[in-house]
Amino acid sequence: MSRIMLTGATGQDGSYLLDVLLDRGDDVHAIVRSPDEATTLAARPGVTAHVADLSNTAMLPDLVDEVEPEQLYSIGGFSSVSQSWKQPALAGLVSGVAVAGLLEGVSRVRARTAREVRFLQASSCEIFGDTAPAPQSEGTPMAPTNPYGAAKAYAQHAVGFARAEGAFAASVILYNHESPRRPLSFVTRKITNSAVRIAAGLDSELRLGNLDAKRDWGWAPDYVDAMVRVMNANEPGDYVVATGVSHTVRDFVAAAFTTAGIDDWEQYVVIDERFYRPVDAAETRGDASRLARDLGWKPTVAFEEIVAAMVEEDSVQLSAGAEESHRSA
Ligand code: GDP
Repeated sequence: MSRIMLTGATGQDGSYLLDVLLDRGDDVHAIVRSPDEATTLAARPGVTAHVADLSNTAMLPDLVDEVEPEQLYSIGGFSSVSQSWKQPALAGLVSGVAVAGLLEGVSRVRARTAREVRFLQASSCEIFGDTAPAPQSEGTPMAPTNPYGAAKAYAQHAVGFARAEGAFAASVILYNHESPRRPLSFVTRKITNSAVRIAAGLDSELRLGNLDAKRDWGWAPDYVDAMVRVMNANEPGDYVVATGVSHTVRDFVAAAFTTAGIDDWEQYVVIDERFYRPVDAAETRGDASRLARDLGWKPTVAFEEIVAAMVEEDSVQLSAGAEESHRSA
């Protein structure tokens, strides 16, 4: 049993990682934002929840020093690029400076106990910005073009500094990764949710922005598996995690609607300027060959299967909800 600390346990990736750690019987310490989240998480045997807002960066070194974990997964932060345009300062704090705060805690534990705390940062392809030619890899220069990417680039540098000081500090540079646990603020879940609602006659249209953007969409549990591999590798390193295949938002819409039983999706989709970004990478596509070569990782779920799994889960949830309202009516 290992003592593992993580941020972001209530998000998509954190929730999958939590499942893996608890299955293994680890002693898990989750940093969460609110007492309500703490109560929910601590109800799971094996979890201790610590309430600390990541924007309160001064608290973080003390908390890591107090818990003294063997491994620390830094997954929490702003997950949405679009939200970071609205709150750039907060994005900088929670996705950037907070990581430096956690690493400061790691170095304190090291100085006090001479014990190593392994650190893994969930980084993002957004550190490469919108002009890097595809595919991007670990050697692609950082040139972020949105507040979220800038915060993640700062954190990436902090990981490099910690490693230069001798810490086991690693990172995974994650491309978009989806699942039925993806929030509706992401385009994939927005689409699958809408497709099943339209198929059920509950909605009549889906409003979207740029349909031409190409994204390298993977399966979130595969990306969590990559995190665990990188955390437990012999040497700390930086690894791109991606499928190497990109699809347009339009492709995603077509696949989701077809799976939901609608072939003429064009008549339901309305282009809405509100959902366009000030700057939007035309294509993100990553080259994960280093991860494949060093740690034997490869994606296990193809694009069509990801879309199908999300549509399937959205229909199950919709019928469960519909049944409930039917019963209460
Ligand atoms: P991101 O790549 O981390 O920003 O993930 P998103 O799922 O939010 O966006 C993926 C792509 O979908 C981006 O290129 C967006 O510009 C594009 N997109 C098009 N319409 C929408 C929309 O209605 N909502 C969102 N979130 N993205 C959209």
